[in-house]
Amino acid sequence: METLGLCGTDLSIVAGKVPVEMPRVVGHEGIGTIEVAGPSGAFDVGQRVLINPGLFCDQCELCRRGYPNLCPNGGLLGRELDGLFADYAAMDERQLLAVPDHVTTDAAGVIQVLGTCVHAVSKAVVSPGDTAVVLGLGVSGQLIAQILAAQGARVIGVTRSEWKREIALRLGATATAAPDQAAAVVADLTDGRGSDVVFEAVGTVQTFSQAIELAGLAATVVFFGTTTGIGDGLPYYQLYYKELTLRNPRGATMADYEQAIALVADGVVNGVPLVSSRFSLEDIDEALAATQDSSTLKVLMEVK
Ligand SMILES: [Zn+2]
Ligand SMILES: [Zn+2]
Repeated sequence: METLGLCGTDLSIVAGKVPVEMPRVVGHEGIGTIEVAGPSGAFDVGQRVLINPGLFCDQCELCRRGYPNLCPNGGLLGRELDGLFADYAAMDERQLLAVPDHVTTDAAGVIQVLGTCVHAVSKAVVSPGDTAVVLGLGVSGQLIAQILAAQGARVIGVTRSEWKREIALRLGATATAAPDQAAAVVADLTDGRGSDVVFEAVGTVQTFSQAIELAGLAATVVFFGTTTGIGDGLPYYQLYYKELTLRNPRGATMADYEQAIALVADGVVNGVPLVSSRFSLEDIDEALAATQDSSTLKVLMEVK
């Protein structure tokens, strides 16, 4: 392995919030180099590759219908199967995609999460000039904002954190707002119509609710964040009144990862400013602590 990324999923697994069979090697975000080539001849030794951590059987009805990300026979590396936080990993070649050598280590380190963001954005129709709100400017929110800006949308990034708002503005957002200012900023930029698309990238009932409130008539709301919350708290009447389309993307497909590699390789998406710290694999405890720290964005580990 070369570059490994950590995220909240790893924290949940290590903390025991997501039950896994022990022992388990965690890690689902990784770039590596082929050391021993497989039988298909698809990759030569020395080829740099991205690993799609979402396993799929390619046989079942969902796989055949174009939903390998929902394959019931699949699973996530580092959760259902041993993952990538290791010197070496044995992978099915069908899970691999070539990554160009000119992509820097830091840029490569965000490609896996970018793939899930590409998948999320594919769930909404975004036309140039549309207004797109992104609630939450963590790594995923920042990447979603960049993809939307590249598609010509006027992006409004929303977070409490001033430094994250500054990064979003630097990387292509049209405007940013603190949560309590978001409604006013959206109204101002849309002449009171509300946003054409809203992406929720936090994962709380409160932000799900705000996403619905910031949406305009006939808008699409994409819940990228996840919550196990149930019950009240959403403005249900607005779902009807605005005739909203709700989307709940999960994971990513090989096509999404292919697009993510192209976005990074072509310089359309810049994940480098989102990398806040790098550790060696031996210092995984420090890396996990840094991932938990709200003053960081992307935490990477390098395999020496
Ligand atoms: Zn992750
Ligand atoms: Zn399947």
